Parts: sequence; C-alpha cells; structure tokens
Amino acid sequence: MPQLEPLQVGEVETDAGLERVVEAYRTSLIPERLAAAAHVAPEHAFAVTLDGAVLIGAMDVLARLEGEALIVDFKTGRGGKDAARDARHENQARCYALAALREGAARVEALFVELERGGDVERFTFDAADERAIEDELNERVRRIRNEPPKPLGRYAPDVCGDCPALGGLCPVEPPRRRSR
Ligand code: SF4
Repeated sequence: MPQLEPLQVGEVETDAGLERVVEAYRTSLIPERLAAAAHVAPEHAFAVTLDGAVLIGAMDVLARLEGEALIVDFKTGRGGKDAARDARHENQARCYALAALREGAARVEALFVELERGGDVERFTFDAADERAIEDELNERVRRIRNEPPKPLGRYAPDVCGDCPALGGLCPVEPPRRRSR
C-alpha cells in the first residue's frame, strides 16, 4: 500500500514534489533493507548469454546478503496500473533474476518502487529452481524475434524508445529534437 499520496502530473518538478519523492523513499522499506546488506552496488551492469544473443542491462541497485540478491528498481509510477504494466514489470524482474542467479545468488528478491506513487512497492521473488524456466522463456523470445523481427513503432514513444539502443541508428523512428538554447 502506498504510504503517501501519489503526486499529480508535473508535481515532481516542484520543490515540494521533490521533497515528497525523497520522503517516499525515506519511509519505504528500501533504506532499511539496503543498510542490512553486506554489499550494495548502484547501477549494476549485467550481460546474460542466451542462445545466440546477449541480454544486457543495468539494475538500479543490487545488494547482496548471505547468498541472497536484493534488486531495487525505481519507477516513477506515472503510468497507470494495468495488466500490460504488470506483465512488463514481471518480465523485467525475471531478466534481473536470471542475471543475479547466474552471478551465484541462491535467492533473488526484486522490489520495484514507485516513488511518485507514494513509495508503492511491488515484490517478486525467485530461487535457483526458476533459472531454467526463465532461460527457456528468454531463449524462446530470442527465437521468435529472429524468425519474425519486430517492426519499429510508427513514431517515437518516450516510455520505450527513450532507452532503446536502436534509436537514432538502426531504427528509422526520429528521436525528439532538443530545444536550442
Ligand atoms: S526506438 Fe526502439 S522501441 Fe522505439 S520504435 Fe525504434 S526499435 Fe522500437
């Protein structure tokens, strides 16, 4: 359950909004959990070898404690809550989990924190028994992409294109122009 009221659109740009985001973090369970970890790595980069592909990414925070990996991913929480968003988060958590399991964790806990939604936390857990199923699923996705490469979107979509490595290169979608000063 959110501990604070969600922010309105654009409120985070204000000092008061920013203070509420900081407060949402401070009152969430995250600082306490990270303080208990033996090692904490921000922006932990990973590369997971799949069948004929490499899944690369970075976790906002990876903390380790006695064979357990705690992954924290910060979300703005601006988008609505729906089944598509839930599925995206679960897929993302599964990718992170595979990376952490391959790095030797016996158990993985992934926490997705929506700071602009009052610090709402979504929790996913995995253990070594999940590794094979996640691998199989991702390898199947790679096979499907290879057999039928996805087409680019009709136009720039900030939610997905912003971090896409194909933007401005392989993909014909035009990135937004920067404002000149
Ligand atoms: S930039 Fe990436 S996500 Fe956006 S349309 Fe192109 S390939 Fe798809």
